[in-house]
Amino acid sequence: MMVSVCGSVRSSKSATRLVLVWLCLLTLPLAAADRNAPDTTEPGSVEAIARATTAPEFLSPWVAYLPEAAGIPSPTAYLGRIAGAAGELTRPEQIFGYLRALAAASPRVHLEEIGRTLEGREILLVAIADEAGIHNLEELKAVTAALADPRRTDPQRAEDLIAGARPFYYINAGLHADETSSVEAVMELAYRLAVSEQPMIRRIRERVVVLINPVSNPDGRAKMADWFYRYIAGKTDFDALPRQSPPYWGRYVFVDINRDAHQQTQAETQAIYRMFWNYHPVVIHDLHESFPLLQTWNGTGPYNPNLDPIVTSAFLEMSFHEVTRMTALGMPGVWTWDFGDGYGHHYVDSVAMNHNAIGRGYETFGNATAETVERVLEPAEVSKKWFRPWPAPSRFEWSMRDSVNYTETGLLAILDYSAVNATDMLRDFYRTGLKSWRQGVAGDPFAFVIPAEQPDRRRVAQMVNLLLRQGIEVARAKAGFALDESDFPAGTFVVRLDQPYRNYAVDLLLPQDFRFAAGQLPYDDVSWALPVHYGVETLPVNDRRVLEVPLDPLEADLAPTGRVTGHGPVFLLADTGQEALLEARYRLEDFAVRIAETAFRVDARDYPAGTWILPPQAGLEEALTSVATDLALDIDSASALPEGASHDAPAPRIGVWVPWADTDSIGWLRYTLDQRGVPYTYLRDEDIRAGGLRERVDVILYGNVDLDLQGQIHGIQATVGPMAFAATPDFPSLGRPAASDDITGGPGWAGLAALNRFVEEGGTLLTLGNGSALALEGGLVRFVRRAWTTGIRTPGAELRARFAMQNHPLAYGYGDTTSVFRFDYPVYDLPRRWLRMAYCTSCLDGPVDMRWVVLQWGTASPEENTAPGPGAETMVVSGGVLGEDELEGRPAILAVPIGEGVVVAYNFNPMHRDLNRSDERLLWNAILNWRSLRPSQNPD
Ligand SMILES: [Zn+2]
Repeated sequence: MMVSVCGSVRSSKSATRLVLVWLCLLTLPLAAADRNAPDTTEPGSVEAIARATTAPEFLSPWVAYLPEAAGIPSPTAYLGRIAGAAGELTRPEQIFGYLRALAAASPRVHLEEIGRTLEGREILLVAIADEAGIHNLEELKAVTAALADPRRTDPQRAEDLIAGARPFYYINAGLHADETSSVEAVMELAYRLAVSEQPMIRRIRERVVVLINPVSNPDGRAKMADWFYRYIAGKTDFDALPRQSPPYWGRYVFVDINRDAHQQTQAETQAIYRMFWNYHPVVIHDLHESFPLLQTWNGTGPYNPNLDPIVTSAFLEMSFHEVTRMTALGMPGVWTWDFGDGYGHHYVDSVAMNHNAIGRGYETFGNATAETVERVLEPAEVSKKWFRPWPAPSRFEWSMRDSVNYTETGLLAILDYSAVNATDMLRDFYRTGLKSWRQGVAGDPFAFVIPAEQPDRRRVAQMVNLLLRQGIEVARAKAGFALDESDFPAGTFVVRLDQPYRNYAVDLLLPQDFRFAAGQLPYDDVSWALPVHYGVETLPVNDRRVLEVPLDPLEADLAPTGRVTGHGPVFLLADTGQEALLEARYRLEDFAVRIAETAFRVDARDYPAGTWILPPQAGLEEALTSVATDLALDIDSASALPEGASHDAPAPRIGVWVPWADTDSIGWLRYTLDQRGVPYTYLRDEDIRAGGLRERVDVILYGNVDLDLQGQIHGIQATVGPMAFAATPDFPSLGRPAASDDITGGPGWAGLAALNRFVEEGGTLLTLGNGSALALEGGLVRFVRRAWTTGIRTPGAELRARFAMQNHPLAYGYGDTTSVFRFDYPVYDLPRRWLRMAYCTSCLDGPVDMRWVVLQWGTASPEENTAPGPGAETMVVSGGVLGEDELEGRPAILAVPIGEGVVVAYNFNPMHRDLNRSDERLLWNAILNWRSLRPSQNPD
């Protein structure tokens, strides 16, 4: 083979000479013999890969060529270019087409569908091994399933099984759609693994089964490719690039698609669980892009105490293997450790971590564009450290192919490690499950008990169903039983802990106790305890007698029902905190509902404030019967309307405003409303700007956004003029779930004025989390000010709060205190407090009614809270907090009247990732009682 590429190298600023010299050196021996023997080198592949790589050290010999195999298409043969070619983003249908062709041609490749996205795209999985591995796939799956359950596989049997087993190693690409290179890398990896005859690759094929999900977020990849070709392609000034990602990837969440491991709400996550239960891989390895040049995950600590030490040491060992191998191959910038915590496991790789396997990930350096651009690093990124033995250079050109080289080389290194250590990895997987089960056998605790009859039995069922979906076994007591001082009736739910996923059950069912250490701030949430987040009583039991309770294992999801007692003519729905009330209101949209403002007694039964009073109406009983059955609500009859104050509660027309600059958190809000069938109007920035909002909707929901105040007002910068997000024949995937002629500019001043008018004309504006800054700091609400605090950190924790107005409609369904989920948001002061502190000691009760605080941070009542000490209640219910003294007493919910309307500003996010369902009623109450939220309407 004669190669002449020395004169054809693309000109670049600094690396040209280096690349030229290297290319000439590299290609010379090819004329004589194939240096890649026993592989035959695909003609042109060496030159194409070298051309697309910006510096010789950004390439390893393992991926510097493509092998050639008769009758089996390479990516180049299929696409007409190498994977990672500059200026090209492969679309999901192209990758799927290629992998189908590969699977059809190679007996070493198996392909299957593991799910469908909400836009109808397939989610594919390929398995790669030698012919025997693919032929025996079902037997190999049966072995790992047996190893996953130590109750049916004793240690001797496990050793026998391991002798004939192989580990499955699962690789997940393209989850975050704007981290583009991993999809290209695994496409080439699949081919290389299938056809190369290099000893290392043969070893991987013979001892491991490699599973690859090549595009784990296909809707996002399709949109990203369209967006790239429409707006980014051809632009190479990195600092002047327009917004690099489309505003949506899937229908709902964005970056948070990697925060769904506990909840399993998104189709993409559900596909990965389907894969996990089917194959029981020893590793889930998720591929991302950010840091230079390749960071392999494990976290600095603190580490989750419920993870087995086998897992927390194995993933460190594997990371250091990659650092050492790649450094030895001559690739700079490979490092580990100094990122993330290792405490919270809510990510895609956590599906493995929480189920006795190992979760890992890469952050490969990426441009978020397929173009080659110059990158400049910070001094802190290029210092030599124990965890970063050979830092990246501080200024260099970086290409998509460079990312492909790093990711693919790292994966080959760890797959070879897995081939060499296959027996140990299978044994460690088995032992992790064995230890988890044995810890449950030993007790402390032996079980969790969940009473079936709680104020919201539907939420109890939802929590139990989620445990089942996590592979955690739950049973129901066949008869009543007694433990400690308590009696439990038949039907009580029991989670015995002598089961393989005992560790995860404990992690999900006990509150988290996160301890801040110097320099170790958590990366994400530090609380996920389901009983706290769902508001469901769950008791750890350390009484051995619980093991004697006869049980019926739950085999299928619970579907609790409610009932209507009597035939009216008046019906009463007691508010005991049921989350289903919002859904019920819209199913009863055409019926009149009044809501009681005080407790009352009818027919010897007590009803709390918040109870629904349904006067006689045609067709009501039939409608209520269906609502009661489906939503597990109990409804009573009464002979006459009860005495006492009540207000009319018409179902409002809801508008959900989603700013184009950040659709992520509000995607969860939309998900939650859609799941409940609650109708709403989707409001875009341009709809807010256009005004006339009061004519369109009664309530505007503005969720938490990860934007500062300027970003909330002015949105995406119009650096390259208008940016449409709309489907065209060339870019068909854009424009979903909402379209726009121009996503730049935000609501702007015109939008703020329109929102102000909306409230003054009687609308209700609900702002959540950081979105409250728009109302409180953007000037819609006057006088409230950002508090002068220094040390508050609430990184996703459940904190106590008390109602300052216990009769306010927002408090319906709650007691005097509750706990809510709070991330790090600004903290605010009321004017009175602010005046008192700074200026004025005698003007506390001015003429303006400023009783705006409905809920405030803190424990119990202020009087009881004056003497903290041993045994005193702390603000944290689950997770961890810094600076709780500064948070104490400050507003958690403000309801501020403006004109005819009201702004309700939440200092937390009651709609956090479908994970804090006990907070949802605080938002539903505002919607249900939208015309009765002004504090003056609700005297103490
Ligand atoms: Zn990512």
